[in-house]
Amino acid sequence: MIVAIDGPAGAGKSTVAKSLAKRLGLHFLDTGAMYRAVTLQVLRRGLDPASGRDCAAVAGSIELDFDAQGKVLIGGVPGEPHIRSREVTGLVSAVSAHAEVRDPIVALQRALAARWGGLVAEGRDMTTVVFPDAPHRFFLNASSHERARRRALELGTPDDLERIRLEIERRDALDSSRGIAPLRVGPGVREIDTDGKDATDVLELLERLIEARAP
Ligand code: C5P
Repeated sequence: MIVAIDGPAGAGKSTVAKSLAKRLGLHFLDTGAMYRAVTLQVLRRGLDPASGRDCAAVAGSIELDFDAQGKVLIGGVPGEPHIRSREVTGLVSAVSAHAEVRDPIVALQRALAARWGGLVAEGRDMTTVVFPDAPHRFFLNASSHERARRRALELGTPDDLERIRLEIERRDALDSSRGIAPLRVGPGVREIDTDGKDATDVLELLERLIEARAP
């Protein structure tokens, strides 16, 4: 079974997708981590994030895998915490906008789904491009204020709320306006507003919706 979840930065997709995968006995795929890993390697190799050619050289050769917790491995080495740095976060939207980057990464995502025999995948184009025929497709949303609040709590930096909100809004604008695989609510995708809901509420709601649609 494939469960596809999209949504903007900080909507709680990872937390919910991870718990849902555990409950359903499926693998969890954090596709943002894959684009972050490519971005990290572009920077480490002194390449240009704005150049499709530079980024393609990395995306076409990078060895990505996942450990038992679903954390990305780059050539067998953990990508955390480096893939979460401010520098990577600031440049990942530029790197992921290149078709030359998306093509090999999307192919890898589909290969992992086949290898694992199903998964809960979260990102920006899971419901629209990568797994448009998945039986369960959700778009998690929340106001940028709420998303920044959650992110600041997660990072333990409540004083940075305003900066985090601006960064989130900038990244959403870039991810939604790009030509290829933009962030959007696709036809037939169930949109869920998570404002005022905690992770457990959202998890239970998704479980109910999946059960209701089970054959
Ligand atoms: O989910 P996360 O915030 O880690 O994603 C980082 C970035 O990776 C996003 O802002 C977006 O630019 C890119 N991304 C993407 N397609 C996906 C997942 C993430 O373009 N499926």
